[in-house]
Amino acid sequence: MFLWISAAVTTASAQKFHLPATHTSQHKDLIANQRPMSIKTKAEADRRLLEDVRRREALTDSEIYGEYWESERVNPYGNIAIPATKDIDVSGFVMPVKGPVTSPYGWRARFGRMHRGVDISLRVGDTVRVAFDGKVRLTKYEGKGYGYYVVVRHDNGMETVYGHLSRFLVKPNQRVRAGEPIALGGNTGRSTGPHLHFETRYLGLAINPAAIVDFENFTTHKDVFAFDKSSYEKSQKYGPVRKSLAKKKSRRKATASGKSKRRRR
Ligand SMILES: [Zn+2]
Repeated sequence: MFLWISAAVTTASAQKFHLPATHTSQHKDLIANQRPMSIKTKAEADRRLLEDVRRREALTDSEIYGEYWESERVNPYGNIAIPATKDIDVSGFVMPVKGPVTSPYGWRARFGRMHRGVDISLRVGDTVRVAFDGKVRLTKYEGKGYGYYVVVRHDNGMETVYGHLSRFLVKPNQRVRAGEPIALGGNTGRSTGPHLHFETRYLGLAINPAAIVDFENFTTHKDVFAFDKSSYEKSQKYGPVRKSLAKKKSRRKATASGKSKRRRR
């Protein structure tokens, strides 16, 4: 009895709220319209953020290029105070070399040190292009490291480094536009095959270029890169932690063999 009533109610309500035949097609239209609409809205939000960042973070040439410019170091900023966060306009990015990444940024256990950039495969003599608008700060040679390398400072406040080059096509203090050829690729310095070593730095800190650049699609992930000091610091703990562990281990060994650390002091 009870079951019968319940079934009857269900049938009745289904009949009562039966949707008009036109609804299905309207609903399909709505779904079809939704996707392009949300992409449009997202693009609009991205554009607004970029405009906001450009207005908010606008720096004059003298602010960017007037300070810490006269330095022969890859990091000219030393231990400058780093802001907790910083929105960086990376919208004008051009891929320096269109090739596959052969070695990522990060701790290299085999060598016991940080790899502060990404390696991109190329052939000797391939054109290397500057990633953003800016001004060339250094063109130098370092036999045991970068080989022939270029450092460019950019209007967005970052610096980029290009290593293992075979030839320079620019000179220090030269203005460059994103995508302009700055060098030819090579295999100079500490390098085991032709490639470009590419670094992205903010106030001297080497940020993982893959956080900014989508290397598979030769473009940036977003028009604005949100630099965050604390997450950067966390990413850097990877290497040093291992080093200190290694030290502790060797200390323990030394203690076990009777050489007390206290006595040595
Ligand atoms: Zn490298």
